[in-house]
Amino acid sequence: MQNDFFSKDDFTARQKNGLQQAIKHASDNSPYYRRVFGEANLNPGRIDSPADFKKIPFTTKNDLREAYPYGMAAVPLEKILRIHASSGTTGKPIVAGYTRGDLDCWAEGVARICEMAGVTSSDIAQISFGYGLFTGGFGLHYGLEWLGATVVPFSSGNTERQLSLMQDFRTNVLVSTPSFAIYMAETARDLGYSPRDFGLKIGLFGGEPCSDAMREDIENQWGLKATVNYGLTEVVGPGISGECMETAGMHILEDIYYPEIIDPKSGEVLPDGEKGELVLTPMFKEGFPVLRYRTGDITRLIPEPCPCGRTTRRMDYITGRSDDMIIIKGVNIFPSQIEEVLAGFSEVSPHYRLVLKKEKGFIKDLEIQVELTPEGFTDSFQALEALDGRIRQRLRSTLSLGPRVKLMEPKSLERTTGKAKRVFEVEQ
Ligand code: ADP
Ligand code: ZN
Repeated sequence: MQNDFFSKDDFTARQKNGLQQAIKHASDNSPYYRRVFGEANLNPGRIDSPADFKKIPFTTKNDLREAYPYGMAAVPLEKILRIHASSGTTGKPIVAGYTRGDLDCWAEGVARICEMAGVTSSDIAQISFGYGLFTGGFGLHYGLEWLGATVVPFSSGNTERQLSLMQDFRTNVLVSTPSFAIYMAETARDLGYSPRDFGLKIGLFGGEPCSDAMREDIENQWGLKATVNYGLTEVVGPGISGECMETAGMHILEDIYYPEIIDPKSGEVLPDGEKGELVLTPMFKEGFPVLRYRTGDITRLIPEPCPCGRTTRRMDYITGRSDDMIIIKGVNIFPSQIEEVLAGFSEVSPHYRLVLKKEKGFIKDLEIQVELTPEGFTDSFQALEALDGRIRQRLRSTLSLGPRVKLMEPKSLERTTGKAKRVFEVEQ
């Protein structure tokens, strides 16, 4: 298995070769990219410096949607062994096809991410990500097998049974979305178990943002070490970056995925440390290659080296996806900002949703529905009103906007077993 301690020279050479290989493969074999190079008047054979690389037009989610289903293929379909599609959290699904080489590269990459998080071949990992077109389940499955761990392919849902098998099988690694880990702990307590007695050691969480408050909650409840990893279907699936045991940002497998951060408005490449949209180029993808893919995810590359000694750069946690951004009365808001404010109040739980009231397609009003914790729950109207007022005030000073807050009874909002859906729209 590759490691993440390359020397600088070794690393630069790998990236240079990798990018050249990616450009060559796309321009030789992908009708889509042949057209892109033609339209941009670019000679792919001449792109051999970072400055030239920046001339390659970005590929967007919309380009991939338009290519539905097989328009991005760069190999004959008989070479494609597996198809996945994005879960469609936003818009129509996007299709990805994998060759044998792609599947191996993916599995090895995920194995590296799991190893960084502290998983070893003697661990027993339960996968509570959905198996299916979603890349999460199969991605972690083959990665953990590549590492030699014992895999329990549970898939999502059926929480009570998950818990009972987790106990019987002595599972010590949990793979899920962070919101499902919280829901499982809640269910365990409802059933009379103490989550800490399960003996979970490591959590591999991904697929959606995990705020500091959620991480703390998960770690306290389960008594495990929570690590976060990142990926997306369009580039490969999970296993693009992940945390080492320092848990201070996610190391990118930079020898496989070339990262850039751009200003989402101008498209200009930003220096390390500045926040913008993450753009990724998988360098060895054969089936459905993409060049300079705009992920829509907002983050930054961390310039400082990691205390763990790995030489791959880290990316910061995703503060939001650009298509999640809510523009209300001219103010841009990410759900994560609201979540951060809510996390400052011990009376409310991490379960919340944002209801956008729309009129003729325009957002007129935002209501934040948030559950009280059992401890925060009270019959005193006065106390609730005071809490409501304090939350609103904090929101106003953070967002320059005072949305309505609706305090809900504990456990009244629906739970999900996959990615949490936070934003709801109602047309008035
Ligand atoms: P969909 O776009 O339908 O949700 P994917 O499963 O491909 O399908 O989701 C990838 C997206 O999930 C990423 O672009 C990102 O927005 C989000 N995501 C994945 N991992 C993380 C993470 N660790 N933190 C925050 N967001 C994440
Ligand atoms: Zn590290």
